Amino acid sequence: MELSNEEKEFLLQSIRKVYDFPKPGIVFRDITTLLNNKEAFNLLMQHLKNRYASYELDCVAGIESRGFIFGAVLANLLNIGFVPIRKKGKLPYTTISEKYSLEYGFSEIEIHIDAFDNSKKIQRVLLIDDLIATGGTAIAGANLIKKAGAECIEACFIVNLEDLGGLKAVKEITKTYTILDV
Ligand code: AMP
Repeated sequence: MELSNEEKEFLLQSIRKVYDFPKPGIVFRDITTLLNNKEAFNLLMQHLKNRYASYELDCVAGIESRGFIFGAVLANLLNIGFVPIRKKGKLPYTTISEKYSLEYGFSEIEIHIDAFDNSKKIQRVLLIDDLIATGGTAIAGANLIKKAGAECIEACFIVNLEDLGGLKAVKEITKTYTILDV
């Protein structure tokens, strides 16, 4: 079921805007206020559960750190597993990594080499993060899912910062779904 405009507005209002964080000029979308609003959190998670119930997913992969929260709850609601995609150096076992550009310099994220059991069938994976800005993080995440031998079925974001155009770049490698385009 699609969310109504009123429901989208309710979700949007539940996300606090913090100006000039982490540096001047950035409007940080703070989802902690959504998480602490049980009606908003429940509306969001039930919507995602309903959307993805028919996708025959094997796994949800969430990007550190806010993608962990939405991703782990969704995986549990769908009765499937959760895989963390983490910043470099945090995962304890053998990893595959992917570098991507930031405004200044680069960053690197990793996934466990055996995150997906593709032995019987290629795993169908949903990638999730709280927000897409330039798209660099999500593209690296989708690439990691592929490198780990699975299929990225869709990349899902709660918030899409439209002006930054990241979604267009992500669409070149996987399907996408965004809830709030701001
Ligand atoms: P990007 O790689 O540019 O698409 O950046 C997306 C990642 O950075 C996500 O993991 C977001 O959580 C975080 N991020 C970037 N910009 C913001 C913002 N304005 N508010 C909250 N999180 C952000």
